[in-house]
Amino acid sequence: MTVAAPDPRKDLIGLTREELAAEMAAIDAEPFRARQLWHWLYHRGATEFTAMTSLAKAFRARLASHYRIGRPEVARSQTSSDGTRKWLLRFDDGQEAESVHIPEADRGTLCVSSQVGCTLNCRFCHTGTQLLVRNLGAAEIVGQIMLARDQLGEWPSPRDDRQLTNIVLMGMGEPLYNYDNVAKALKIAMDGEGLSVSKRKITLSTAGVVPLIKRCGEQLGVNLAISLHATNDELRDELVPLNKKYPLAELLQACREYPGAHNARRITFEYVMLKGINDAPADARELVRLLAGIPAKVNLIPFNPWPGARYECSSDAAIQRFSDIVFAAGYSAPVRMPRGRDILAACGQLKSDSIRKRARPPAEAPAPTSWPADLRGP
Ligand code: SAH
Repeated sequence: MTVAAPDPRKDLIGLTREELAAEMAAIDAEPFRARQLWHWLYHRGATEFTAMTSLAKAFRARLASHYRIGRPEVARSQTSSDGTRKWLLRFDDGQEAESVHIPEADRGTLCVSSQVGCTLNCRFCHTGTQLLVRNLGAAEIVGQIMLARDQLGEWPSPRDDRQLTNIVLMGMGEPLYNYDNVAKALKIAMDGEGLSVSKRKITLSTAGVVPLIKRCGEQLGVNLAISLHATNDELRDELVPLNKKYPLAELLQACREYPGAHNARRITFEYVMLKGINDAPADARELVRLLAGIPAKVNLIPFNPWPGARYECSSDAAIQRFSDIVFAAGYSAPVRMPRGRDILAACGQLKSDSIRKRARPPAEAPAPTSWPADLRGP
């Protein structure tokens, strides 16, 4: 792996408005410069200071001597036969993560990663076979959205007719185990004078980091999706080991209390369909029972296979039967059409070859349990 010599200039991407204002103060620029820069960075998508024609030439040169405008590098780009696009992005330190754009008739969704690798080890998830390498920074998270806009030719931020209308935090990693950076990136994305993606068009998916669910609702107000996948603790402990730390009853209580959830803004419960494991009619009935009192909708995800996976996808008939039972109880229960399976871009198939660099010789390398508490899995 060759990593270019680091650019010593500070990246302006990923700074909040306040931080950008502080930078302008630090180089003795007038306060209104921060707003102008914000417009160029996030509304116009400028990648060079020379493009910022409303700024005096000398000021542009001064900016360029102190700062850079970061973008992840595209290490590989693939397009599925169904139009789904997957980008393998390489960051400054050479680490890699993937993002996926899924075009549909009435919308276009960008699936964003929050970590390189993951700590959760969900048994059916390909990303889970990759150890956590590190959290992505705010710049690297918002950079995925900006790079997609670059690639789709969507600058300045379009008002209508966008190919990128929705954002889902459903890529690699557990977003609530990297809450601060995710929150910072989403606040930038939601700013109406910049990328301008409404909180109603953003969905954060979590395997159930209960203590942070409330904070996410209060501070960000985005839509919530829960990777449920099982209706009893015994099975969920096995499929989603995080359940041992935050069992079903606590998770569902956090959902009942999720700020902003009401019938017009329901919480999505994702449920992967695994043959013979969780797809019986009795499971569907139990699911309905658990969801009582929660403004909910259910998303059934046919299991997406990956090399070495130990599960199979449920039959179409089993998925339909399951969906019918949930639907009859008054919940919408669409089956999520697998997209981009041919390029391993579908749910749970993302994985990069990044590996954790050993900080010390192997014998002393930290065991996984030595991760800081907020990064550690169950
Ligand atoms: N860690 C977060 C974000 C990942 S979202 C979370 O767990 O919610 C990715 C979604 O795809 C999750 O619902 C995950 O459980 C699901 N998924 C993972 N592997 C899958 C697979 N092989 N087939 C279908 N869905 C899968």
